[in-house]
Amino acid sequence: MKAIIFDFDGTLTKGGDNIWKAMWKYLGYDIGQGSLYRQLFIRFLSHDIDHQTWCDLSADAFMERGISKDIMLNLAKNTELIDGAKETFKKLKENGHSLHVVSGSMTAVIRQVLGDNVKYFDSINGNEALFDEDGNMIGIKGTKYDFEGKARFVEELIAKTGIDKSDICFVGNGDNDEWVYKSGCKTLCINPEDTDTSNTTIWHKSIDNLTDLRDILPALNVAPTLQELISNGDESNNKTTHICPMMAEFMCKD
Ligand SMILES: [Mg+2]
Repeated sequence: MKAIIFDFDGTLTKGGDNIWKAMWKYLGYDIGQGSLYRQLFIRFLSHDIDHQTWCDLSADAFMERGISKDIMLNLAKNTELIDGAKETFKKLKENGHSLHVVSGSMTAVIRQVLGDNVKYFDSINGNEALFDEDGNMIGIKGTKYDFEGKARFVEELIAKTGIDKSDICFVGNGDNDEWVYKSGCKTLCINPEDTDTSNTTIWHKSIDNLTDLRDILPALNVAPTLQELISNGDESNNKTTHICPMMAEFMCKD
């Protein structure tokens, strides 16, 4: 069995503000140079504060101006799942892969955006926004698996399941995914943001300007069936047949 681990923001989504940034902005906080938002990020990156303290101080700022679960999940409605996600998850599951999300977003947000697709995932790992019975935020429980922790997730998965590291691929897009290669798994960068994909130690493969998640399948060595090459198998819409350049290349071989 093989495993595919996905980052969330900018990897499974069409981009836009992540939920952290969206909440800071919604509450009227400045997010520019010298803002508390930026200061906390810099303090975390420079190891002045740990990840949980970063979450605690952010939660304090959120609670000071009042934020509820409804507001958070409403803001999350601006986040759209990337096209072709469902077909990709389904295909990978049919091929016997286990699927995981390892993200710095909030798990409730990830679950809402994934919707029905949650059923394809073996685990969803992110920060937990905590709310009281009236739905008001009372804290944020930080994930162990962001930044350096993303590599730790892969190492723990290997220890738990015995899957060989070469049979695990992490799919990400940003600077907080740059530690993953240290676990020894394969890495694929899509739609890079604040990360240098010419560094092939960190990113083994990369695809720029990806608009349909199905385009990662050839890079994961999951070959499309002939039927899928002829028709994208999605009867729910009338989209033009989807054949990505890499699939086209595959079809033209021999
Ligand atoms: Mg990301």
